[in-house]
Amino acid sequence: MSGTLAIDAKGIQKTYGTGDAAVTALRGVDLSASFGEMVALVGPSGCGKTTFISILAGLLSRDGGSMQLAGVDPDELNNHQRTLWRRGNVGFIFQQFNLVPQISVLENVAIPLLLRGDSRKDSLERAALLLERVGLKGREQARPTKLSGGQQQRVAIARSLVHGPRILVCDEPTSALDGETGQRVMELVREQGCGPDRLVVLVTHDERIFHFADRIVHMDDGRVTRVVDGKIEMAALRAAAAAEENQG
Ligand code: ADP
Ligand code: MG
Repeated sequence: MSGTLAIDAKGIQKTYGTGDAAVTALRGVDLSASFGEMVALVGPSGCGKTTFISILAGLLSRDGGSMQLAGVDPDELNNHQRTLWRRGNVGFIFQQFNLVPQISVLENVAIPLLLRGDSRKDSLERAALLLERVGLKGREQARPTKLSGGQQQRVAIARSLVHGPRILVCDEPTSALDGETGQRVMELVREQGCGPDRLVVLVTHDERIFHFADRIVHMDDGRVTRVVDGKIEMAALRAAAAAEENQG
């Protein structure tokens, strides 16, 4: 690992609810990552991936452990400071896209810029550029509900990148995309999301995009079980698939 430490999380714990209804989602998760990296979190449904990246994004507070994101612990900020910090530093692609149905696709993508106070003209221009990059030129004025699931996901991706966040957190960013679109969109996420002062943490089941990740962090039952190089993981999967084919 090289470069400045962007994420330094140790022993992160999280339990939802109390008493008999308590569900422990994280049982002490460690993750460190540098700027420039793309880290993929993988693991069975319910193992805590969404909980962990929500904590990384400052959307959820932890119960235990320590965390620094480029030197900031979001839990040490008050609500107002945390909101401002998030707007300036974090991009989030939600599993459910979370697009605003009442406004156009273009305005949806411009939201992070408008929220931080950029002019409407500049915001819409930059949003249009990102929409073009995700292959949605011509759909700027459509309402999100008029788009297919895959198109909505690409709007969400454009919105997450538009303000050049230092920390981009993606929950299953290619779940609604076909293989080729997924590759193109991941190339864009890699290009825009990783840099000397930027990094990407993504959750994915999609083996076709593992090779974009520098590291694959395997989770199970609220813990990290294994960390593997992304390209090695991809090569191993291909070898296993080839061996299976030879058998059949
Ligand atoms: P993953 O993203 O890996 O599927 P999650 O982080 O969504 O896992 O969930 C981890 C565990 O926490 C699961 O058992 C899930 O049911 C539980 N959980 C997640 N969100 C909540 C919530 N808001 N309230 C109660 N339990 C939750
Ligand atoms: Mg999840």
